[in-house]
Order: sequence, then structure tokens, then C-alpha cells
Amino acid sequence: MPTTLTTIERRRRLHHQWCQRNKARRCESSKSYRQRHPDRVRISNKLWREKNSEYLRKCKLEWRSKNKDAIRSHHKSYHYERYRKDPEYRRRLISQSKSWGTKNKDKRRIIYRNWSLRNSKYLALKSSKRRALQRDAVINEKGLSHFLLFIKQRQTVVCYYCKRRIPATLIHLDHILPIVKGGGHSMCNLCISCPSCNQHKSDRTLDVWPETGQRLLSI
Ligand SMILES: [Zn+2]
Repeated sequence: MPTTLTTIERRRRLHHQWCQRNKARRCESSKSYRQRHPDRVRISNKLWREKNSEYLRKCKLEWRSKNKDAIRSHHKSYHYERYRKDPEYRRRLISQSKSWGTKNKDKRRIIYRNWSLRNSKYLALKSSKRRALQRDAVINEKGLSHFLLFIKQRQTVVCYYCKRRIPATLIHLDHILPIVKGGGHSMCNLCISCPSCNQHKSDRTLDVWPETGQRLLSI
């Protein structure tokens, strides 16, 4: 038995040396074999993967830990492109994100705080744009201050959109016709809204915010 083993070892070494000397020829012959017998290659690969699953798992983990940034960037660009092009995917993602946010309010607050620290320049730009738009909009300062005084004197107020009664400390002032769509920053275009309605409506007009349109029609 030891003699046979030695012979096998010697043959293997000789074959390895021959392969090293004839790399191009070896590659060519391997390529032609793969082209002639794709099924055999597929089965053999599958068997090899099954036999070496643990080794493959280790390699994969090692590669992932070495290429964390590349993987993150690839995922980010893939999801961003899909989010931009696929409306169904976008809707699903927004709804998942909203339901996660309502279940994990503390985590959401921390994530938003970290995000706003990283994007402080973008937020400052957005805020200055909004201020500039407000300056350009028709302003009725006197009427507005009376309106705010009137609200502050009350314990609770009614949301203009959903008609729910909310504490005066929680209210948002919303532009019925958003400033970015040409609405004025004045009494006749401002209403009291609950935080939820204000966030959902965002900068949409009433005709494209069906939720409100339906409620207003039912009044
Ligand atoms: Zn509301």
C-alpha cells in the first residue's frame, strides 16, 4: 500500500509540474472540454460545491468583510435606480418604511438625527430656499399675528383637514396652496393642521391629495 500511495503522489506531482510548464495548452484543452461537455461540467461543479460548502462559505464571508464598502455602494445604487424607475417598488418601500417608523419611533429619531448631521448643508440650503420663497410670497404679517394669537388662547383646536380636535401646542400651520406652487404666506392661505395631516399632505395641492379631497367633499 505505501508503494501505491507513493506512485500516486509522484504521478500527481509530475502532472502538476507538466501543467505549470504548459499553462496555455492546459487552458485551451480545459476550455474545449467545457464547451464539448457542458452538462458534465455543471454536474461536476455542483458536486464540488456540495463537497466544499464550508470552504465556500468561509471564502464568501472573507470576501464580504474585505469588500464592505463596495457591497454597500453597489446595493445603494441598485436600490436607488429601482426606486427611481419602478413606481410599485417605490410605493412598497415607502409603506414598509412608514410602518417600521411607527413601530420604532426612538430608532427613527436617532437615524434622522444622524442623517441631518451628515446632511446639514443640504438642510440649510432647503431651509434658505423655503425662506426665500416665503419672502417672495404675498405676506400679510398683521393678519397672521392676529391669527396666531387667536390660536394660542385656546386649549384645543380642530384640524382643518381631518376635523380631529388636537391640543394647541401640537398644531402645525399649513399652506393650503403650497408656497412652492404659488400660494401666499398669508391668512387666507393658512390653516391649522394636525402633524399627521401636514406631513402626509407635504407640498401637494388639495386636488392631488385624494384623502383630503374626499373629506372636504363629504362635509
Ligand atoms: Zn388632521
